[in-house]
Amino acid sequence: EELEPPRRIRALHQDVVNKIAAGEIIVAPVHALKELIENAVDAGSTSLEILVKDGGLKLLQITDNGHGIDKEDLPILCERFTTSKLKAFEDLTSIGTYGFRGEALASISHIAHLTVTTKTPESSCAWKAHYAGGKLAPAKPGQSADPKACAGRQGTQIAVEDLFYNVPTRRRAFRSASEEYAKILDLVGRYAVHCSGVAFSCKKHGESGAGLAIPSNASTIDRIRLVHNSAVANDLIQFGAANEQYGFKSEGLVSSANHSAKRTTLLLFINHRSVESSAIKKAIEHTYSTFLPKGGHPFVYLSLEIDPARVDVNVHPTKREVNFLNEEEIIEIICDEIRTRLGKVDTSRTFLTQC
Ligand code: ADP
Ligand code: MG
Repeated sequence: EELEPPRRIRALHQDVVNKIAAGEIIVAPVHALKELIENAVDAGSTSLEILVKDGGLKLLQITDNGHGIDKEDLPILCERFTTSKLKAFEDLTSIGTYGFRGEALASISHIAHLTVTTKTPESSCAWKAHYAGGKLAPAKPGQSADPKACAGRQGTQIAVEDLFYNVPTRRRAFRSASEEYAKILDLVGRYAVHCSGVAFSCKKHGESGAGLAIPSNASTIDRIRLVHNSAVANDLIQFGAANEQYGFKSEGLVSSANHSAKRTTLLLFINHRSVESSAIKKAIEHTYSTFLPKGGHPFVYLSLEIDPARVDVNVHPTKREVNFLNEEEIIEIICDEIRTRLGKVDTSRTFLTQC
């Protein structure tokens, strides 16, 4: 048998590299939206309005009232690794904002049609720009790619249209727009509970009512009432735990032993970023197991702040996972605290009902 000669190794075209990288960060519309929400919150916004068409595949639009983007920055806004939030690698250890490496908008511009309209307080008008493949692009072929002056409110509106239009295999993988919309509502609900002082609305295009509407002055309990339901909102216990040695503090609202749901709801924020942690979820479920009837599950909103120097946010481009030091110890302190509070409420209620 004759061996074929080895195939030559060639560098991929930069466009292909960018598209692959983008597809890794943004798997579904909800991942693009998370980046946009985090950017809007980073910009100091007190109002976020979200509009969704076709589960976010046709349109994802987010309008904020934050500090806006300087017109001079528009040409590089969507280039990879352009950011106003990080200068040196060392900054990764002390970063207080959600974003950190300027990849989100770049990624989106490689797999969707992106339009940015923005106005800073200093500017007398708003500026509108279109992007494709990381660069300014004309709105229509033949037109200029330069940002155009237009009327607009203070803040930024980002419209992401036709997500995955140039990644047909990914586009085809989405079976149901309502499934994607449900994921979007879930995410918006999480940030709406966590971001006090910020108004949120989320609407499906063409529907008159909002899927979710939270006024800026709503308390955290009211936010939970609006996003989830009154039954759980009326049955919450506030808790807090901190430890200097492990460099963390935490606070949150958890359901009492009187509340029992079919599934656990865990709204988990680490340094103000919505994340998932099966270790924390397991430990919390275990803590509740002695308080709830068999098959019963809790509602837990937990905000964990950990000394940024002890957190590694750079584990995965999606930032859905974070690693931190003394994870086991920290989880144990939090669960001990929840257990103590549950015990207190539980006995008083039992006592009352027995009388
Ligand atoms: P990162 O958030 O990591 O910096 P992004 O690609 O998400 O990277 O955003 C790039 C930059 O664009 C941000 O650093 C910020 O300066 C600016 N930006 C993005 N979205 C907004 C917004 N809604 N309001 C103001 N500035 C924004
Ligand atoms: Mg960002």
